[in-house]
Amino acid sequence: DLLVNQIAAGEVVERPASVLKEVLENAVDAGARAIEVQLEQGGVRRIRVADDGCGIARDELALALERHATSKISTLDDLEHVGTMGFRGEALAAIAAVARTSITSRATGASHAWCIDGSERSLSPAALNQGTVVDVADLYYNTPARRKFLKTEATEYAHCDDMFRRIALSHPDVGMQLSHNGRVIHRLPPSTPAARVAALMGDDFLQQAREVSAVGGILSLSGFASLPAYSRASRDAQFFFVNGRYVRDKLLTHAVRQAYTDILHGNRHPAYVLFLELDPAGVDVNVHPAKIEVRFRESRAVHQFVFHAIRRVLAESGA
Ligand code: ADP
Ligand code: MG
Repeated sequence: DLLVNQIAAGEVVERPASVLKEVLENAVDAGARAIEVQLEQGGVRRIRVADDGCGIARDELALALERHATSKISTLDDLEHVGTMGFRGEALAAIAAVARTSITSRATGASHAWCIDGSERSLSPAALNQGTVVDVADLYYNTPARRKFLKTEATEYAHCDDMFRRIALSHPDVGMQLSHNGRVIHRLPPSTPAARVAALMGDDFLQQAREVSAVGGILSLSGFASLPAYSRASRDAQFFFVNGRYVRDKLLTHAVRQAYTDILHGNRHPAYVLFLELDPAGVDVNVHPAKIEVRFRESRAVHQFVFHAIRRVLAESGA
């Protein structure tokens, strides 16, 4: 069973940033209003995520580490929508198979917390106000072949930072903090979408960006796109979300890029944070947990819509 989980882990746990993604998404799903992330050595040495969400009851702690155990699918109807939610009930089991993992949690209404050790599966009483602390240490300590694929601390940290930004941008109402090797990197109070964008992308971005707000049929696009003056030498400031989920999709990237044709020159790139919302029936999210690709039923219409929405905003501001 450990071996099966270690194999499954190859799918879910590519690197520290993929652990961070799963654990952060669980915290958000648990209704957390505040999430604190502590990383050590790029997340390889430690990823610790504390949230103030609903917590996990004592009797469900062991279950949370079992494969295919999820509290998030309760009906057949849910199962049919699994495509929009990604793999279910795989992440914690996979993580616990390749890192020293513990979960401490105090469920709403419980008199104290319980802690479970990911390898011994032993439960012990613990102290915690409310919510959950997931501690993932020494990633790949027992699978040296995988450990070899990890990059430098700086690179793994950069991936974690990226992942943190994606989740923070799509959940502005949740207070979020990130520290690395004891140093606070981001301290984000709960805020409006615009304030969250400013906090993560910089005030200068927001000053040189225009708000995007377009609706067409089942599609709506909101967010911010930079004016040409704020163009960048790299694509590092491009964030696209579909139904709240970060994606990196050729069609969407191309539609935005095309809106800047004849406006941006040379190797310059626009900066943007954009949220596309549509009927979930109109989009397939690749359910592979490590992937962030989508397929639209009406891809031409989506391309046109995004292109025109950005084009209009740029034209209105005289770009
Ligand atoms: P999934 O999120 O797909 O259900 P996971 O392996 O990520 O699967 O988590 C397993 C279960 O553990 C979740 O369904 C949830 O019930 C519980 N869980 C995990 N993390 C938390 C958390 N931070 N707060 C509350 N419950 C959690
Ligand atoms: Mg999960």
